[in-house]
Amino acid sequence: MNKIKFLGTSGGRFVLINQLRKSGGTWLTLDDTNILIDPGPGCLVSCHASKPKLNPQSLDAIILTHRHLDHSNDINVMIEAMANGGFNKKGLVFAPRDALEDDPVILKHFRDHVEKIEILKEKGTYKIGNISFETPVKHVHGAETYGLNFFGKNHSISFVTDTKYFDGLESFYHGEILVLNIVMFKEMEHVMHLCVDDAEKIISANKPKLCVLTHFGMTMIKAKPWEIAERFTRNLGVKVVAASDGMSIDLDKY
Ligand SMILES: [Zn+2]
Ligand SMILES: [Zn+2]
Repeated sequence: MNKIKFLGTSGGRFVLINQLRKSGGTWLTLDDTNILIDPGPGCLVSCHASKPKLNPQSLDAIILTHRHLDHSNDINVMIEAMANGGFNKKGLVFAPRDALEDDPVILKHFRDHVEKIEILKEKGTYKIGNISFETPVKHVHGAETYGLNFFGKNHSISFVTDTKYFDGLESFYHGEILVLNIVMFKEMEHVMHLCVDDAEKIISANKPKLCVLTHFGMTMIKAKPWEIAERFTRNLGVKVVAASDGMSIDLDKY
């Protein structure tokens, strides 16, 4: 089965520290390849609490889109789990350079647990098992950050991770399934995240088969993201849903 499982859907720091939404990141299973994206706080716990349970030892790779705490807190324990407690050198890790250098979030101790650590770069293309992915453009965010385009046999999925909107952003993400990190309801000066108006622009331009909104900050939680998703579906002619903790999307339906 090809699926995306949302282990956590929190974005802003108060949603995270109060655990109004969970923060474990996203699990993607595509063409028999298991990939964990952005293992934030509680990722390991959420994998085991998941129904059906997700076994971290079955992971083929972990991708860190950027080093911020809500994306990286559980990276070391998830590397430990992917590599069977460090007893088998196993799995791939992908991360921007600043997650590995000076004040690294990926501790040196765990780096030789895995087969390979690859540095993410603008216009990078990478392979994991049966699938490939690319990081088409560097985002505008407080740390070095990339979005992801995955290509499987029958599916393409884009993750527009944390970024401030910039001209042409939508032209980099043409996946049939589009996942958008929408932290804010309205644009806020000096906050480098997408808001609802940005989402509308991206969805209208790209018309994916399905769009999933996630990574909600407090203003989004208050605005009821499922109502925003319903409004988008009505007005934009694209099916849009708001992610909830533990929600699973069956990619074979699209
Ligand atoms: Zn974030
Ligand atoms: Zn961030």
